[in-house]
Amino acid sequence: MPVKNVTVVGAGTMGNGIAHVFAQHGFAVTLNDVRADLIERGIATIGGNLDRQIKKGLITAADKTQILGGLVSETDLARSVAKADLVIEAATENWEIKKDIFKRISAEAPPAAILASNTSSISITRIGAVTGRPAKVVGMHFMNPVPVMKLVEVIRGLSTDDETTTTVLGLARALDKTPVEVNDYPGFVANRILLPMINEAAYCVMEGVATAEAIDTVMKLGMNHPMGPLTLADFIGLDVCLAIMDVLHEGLGDPKYRPCPLLKKMVADGRFGKKSGRGFYTYS
Ligand code: NAD
Repeated sequence: MPVKNVTVVGAGTMGNGIAHVFAQHGFAVTLNDVRADLIERGIATIGGNLDRQIKKGLITAADKTQILGGLVSETDLARSVAKADLVIEAATENWEIKKDIFKRISAEAPPAAILASNTSSISITRIGAVTGRPAKVVGMHFMNPVPVMKLVEVIRGLSTDDETTTTVLGLARALDKTPVEVNDYPGFVANRILLPMINEAAYCVMEGVATAEAIDTVMKLGMNHPMGPLTLADFIGLDVCLAIMDVLHEGLGDPKYRPCPLLKKMVADGRFGKKSGRGFYTYS
């Protein structure tokens, strides 16, 4: 099915990035959030990121006008998805919120529309099961920051059909991204591998194996990682890291995924990383 009209639900960090790349590649994009000011803030972020692309000589000022002109803001969810060929949900990582959104968009979007989620950790099969069309529900997991990062994990739920998967793989390529097809298991691939590494780095701090700086230096210079695991954890948010470890632990049932007690303690103390000013490092 050709995809022309794309609706992005959630205009936060990921939603505005996803809207940006679809609009930049000629799709008609509707951006939805619960309040108009949140959508405006998302569009302002897109504008700022487009300015950066202009400075780098990647696009022209005329391109920026055209890209922003291709974006429609809409706070009413039913109206947002009424003409959609593809809906990508990038709302808050919370099962009750996503369940409600998927029930509603399944009832309101055209029957042929694909319903995708950008979730980092919630089961695509579980999301599909609350819709009337699980064969058309798929994970489209972009990386942050979306306009820069090449990878898209395309996640097949247990009932996702081949046509949906093929369409979404093709769409990711049309956005100049590299899609990787994975099956629906806790953490998919990216977070299944990344988060246990971050968790182990937290254990190293807790056990006094080395300082946070030393651990990050080992992984940067020794493994050629662009950023150490504890710097990355602060950037992702320690609360988000803990939530994903809980999903791995509960979903896979293996004690090797138990969240590090130090990580739990830091989250309980409000040390969420960069966004709260304090995590493994302090931010001014
Ligand atoms: P965010 O908090 O920046 O944005 C979430 C947005 O969703 C907010 O603007 C909020 O108002 C909106 N929202 C909440 N309920 C809504 C509803 N009922 N209808 C419409 N909008 C609603 O969060 P984010 O970091 O952009 O994460 C969004 C999704 O992307 C999550 O599922 C997250 O797991 C996933 N993700 C995040 C990252 C990351 O690095 N931040 C990376 C990959 C995937």
